[in-house]
Amino acid sequence: MDKQKSHVIVLTYPAQGHINPLLQFAKRLASKGLKATLATTYYTVNSIDAPTVGVEPISDGFDEGGFKQASSLDVYLEAFKTVGSRTLTELVFKFKASGSPVNCIVYDSMLPWALDVARDLGIYAAAFMTTSASVCSMYWRIDLGLLSLPSKQQTATVSLPGLPPLGCCDLPSFLAEPTSQTAYLEVIMEKFHSLNEDDWVFCNSFEDLEIELVKAMRGKWPLVMVGPMVPSAYLDQQIDGDRAYGASLWKPTSSQCFTWLDTKPPRSVIYVSFGTMGNISAEQVEEIAWGLKASNRPFLWVLKESEKKLPTEFLNSVGETGMVVSWCNQLEVLAHQATGCFVTHCGWNSTLEGLGLGVPMVCVTERSDQPMNAKFVEDVWKVGVRAKKDEVGIVTREELEKCIRGVMEGENGEEIKRNANKWRELARSAVSVGGTSDMNINEFVVKLLEGNK
Ligand code: UDP
Repeated sequence: MDKQKSHVIVLTYPAQGHINPLLQFAKRLASKGLKATLATTYYTVNSIDAPTVGVEPISDGFDEGGFKQASSLDVYLEAFKTVGSRTLTELVFKFKASGSPVNCIVYDSMLPWALDVARDLGIYAAAFMTTSASVCSMYWRIDLGLLSLPSKQQTATVSLPGLPPLGCCDLPSFLAEPTSQTAYLEVIMEKFHSLNEDDWVFCNSFEDLEIELVKAMRGKWPLVMVGPMVPSAYLDQQIDGDRAYGASLWKPTSSQCFTWLDTKPPRSVIYVSFGTMGNISAEQVEEIAWGLKASNRPFLWVLKESEKKLPTEFLNSVGETGMVVSWCNQLEVLAHQATGCFVTHCGWNSTLEGLGLGVPMVCVTERSDQPMNAKFVEDVWKVGVRAKKDEVGIVTREELEKCIRGVMEGENGEEIKRNANKWRELARSAVSVGGTSDMNINEFVVKLLEGNK
């Protein structure tokens, strides 16, 4: 089969932290000569700008605004399954009629029903995991009944092959507090239950990054590491010079932050972002604000919806020292020579971006897989520190200031910087020609080129 006749649909969940890695994967496939089409919802389709990849809408049943229009997450996910299955099938038929038949669907693991669509159509199916392999291994064990979790009250740690000892505060929140987000947990567990039915299961990570787990799980599960899905120019100029994800659900406030960054000394600026999903409390925002002020360093803070929560006294005192924006191009900020520290919620993409660009991290986590990612940042990769919460779950200003100094100053700061450089190199080599992730993608491409299922 010639390359352009092998056509892959890459289906993403319509959130920034999912579109970024899946679109990046589609671009990697396109760079290897396959035809790749990103399928996403009607209300996100116009946010995509990726010339090498086709983009097509499917429906989640809420074409004006998606999840926000639905009465609950359960309602949303159920509608997406029904309407999405139908419209994804129609899309495959449309391509067949136009002479560009699809022979594989790569789908976001949050949309496990796409496996049935691919099976009904008789084409290949590949799941794509947007969390770390270590987090995946927790779900895998639970599905097989190999793991029962400690209750919140328990102080005992969980010891699992290939993972550091995990306390309750290190576990993904879906597992530590399973009653809090049942709809997500159900969808995740549905995918892990059918893991062996996929033709491939890809994970946005790389082998060196989770090497102990890779060794412990070899031959036991089907996960294949293909990441990090960070645009290649940031990791390795040699691949294709790609300098953007090509998707932005929000518009940057302005490009002024780069003019501002240009005026700051190398490695002096603290970049602060808590991702796209959270709703950080006013109390926490205030502690962060004063912690940043106390650190006495320039900062750039992405505060999506909460500028109104910032104390006026703080805003008046910031002057040229700090900049607060509602959205920016995070990769460009992390890659900027003035950026010296990343205060992050440890979403998986942000964690990979910090690692891949070699920026020391301070982890201020909220939920989901973030606590476990932070555990690895601090204890396994040793590229940052994790801010401790007080008894009411807040990271105080004193704690934040201490953590910032810990990664930017002294012997510990130097050690963290050395480790950050080491991991940046390892990330780069995983996706470079002949690297482990690159080879894993090549194997997939070769198989697809052999023809239909
Ligand atoms: N991001 C960005 N600009 C911002 C904030 C975030 O481009 O101002 C991007 C960031 O680079 C990352 C994604 O949004 O790729 C967030 O994904 P992540 O998994 O880190 O967090 P989530 O939002 O899913 O919790």
